[in-house]
Amino acid sequence: MPAQPKPNGASINGIYPLNDVGEMGASSLPVKAGRQAKLSFEVFPAKTAAGQKTLLNELEGLAGYNPEFISVTYGAGGSSRNGTAATAKAIQNRYQTQVMAHITYSAQSRADVIASLEQFKDIGIRQILALRGDEIANAPKTEAQAFANSVEFISAVKEMGFDVIRTTAYPDIHKDAKDADADFDWLLAKFDAGASEAITQFFFDADHFLKLRDRLDKYGFADRLIPGILAFQDAQKMQNFAQQCGVYIPPALKKELDKTANSELAEAHALSVLLDLWLRLSAEGISRYHVYTLNKSRPTQTLLELLGVGKQVSCQLSAPPVTAKKHSSSDFPKGEKALNFSKMSYL
Ligand code: FAD
Repeated sequence: MPAQPKPNGASINGIYPLNDVGEMGASSLPVKAGRQAKLSFEVFPAKTAAGQKTLLNELEGLAGYNPEFISVTYGAGGSSRNGTAATAKAIQNRYQTQVMAHITYSAQSRADVIASLEQFKDIGIRQILALRGDEIANAPKTEAQAFANSVEFISAVKEMGFDVIRTTAYPDIHKDAKDADADFDWLLAKFDAGASEAITQFFFDADHFLKLRDRLDKYGFADRLIPGILAFQDAQKMQNFAQQCGVYIPPALKKELDKTANSELAEAHALSVLLDLWLRLSAEGISRYHVYTLNKSRPTQTLLELLGVGKQVSCQLSAPPVTAKKHSSSDFPKGEKALNFSKMSYL
């Protein structure tokens, strides 16, 4: 990676001084940050037909950015299996974009996991994020051992003939890792098993991401790492979620965010944190970004507009907006509660 000038001075959140952007060349940075960025967006499955309609309409604001793919999460223990398939199918039907389905194997039988993958294939999904997932309390042991680990799982998914298999990476080091080296070696093993790229957990210390990117660069794999950006608006919810996920919040950032908590400036402050992070990554040569949208288009769109990312005409609606009545209620898992951001085991 080309060496880039490092920022000096303090920013509002301690990550990156926005007003130092000019030091790196005011004309080049916005172009890198903006028009050259390649995007992907993550959503979680709708729980009802009405929820799906709302989600599809939210995505309309993002589809024009011509994302490389839109990804749909999968509930821990297979709890959103049908929801993932239904939402993935609906997005594919409505937008001319690739959809990546997430799948976890933890706390499910091997047969159930393979059945989910077959279901994804049947509806035309060609891209998979293959995950272990989190352990579920009191899950029967034999089921939890459906696959020995995510390396074995990635190999099994690869054998099923999907076009693209992605995996996860953890800039702040996963809580199950013995240390940073073990975490890194595990990532290399997942690439070796057949994952072509890794999407990171969200993070707020850009140096942690860049350290990981630079380690991968030594193997020629720097371009395989895609940063995950959480398009948050509520700093308190974000911090709760970060704690659940083992994401590091730099103390200076936490202190700054606390100053605007519950005030009318909170959303603008969240936006400035995301801008700082994105600009720092962009200045370091990062051009692909995976945005955790939390199923809302506005925060992501506002961020992209400020970064100068232009909408592209090549991504079109492939069908008129769908109405809830076109979906059968059997497409959706029964009896599930609406998702609550602060209580989600996963998005
Ligand atoms: P792995 O990569 O297999 O393991 C996590 C870490 O544990 C590794 O980094 C490694 O350090 C260590 N480890 C594990 N096994 C070994 C071993 N045998 N030897 C050495 N080290 C080992 N969860 C959901 O439930 N649904 C989703 O849709 C979902 N989507 C996600 C998307 C992204 C981009 C990310 C980053 C996470 C997502 N998660 C999701 C969360 C994920 O399930 C948890 O982070 C989970 O704890 C780890 O799953 P994994 O597949 O990354 O695990």
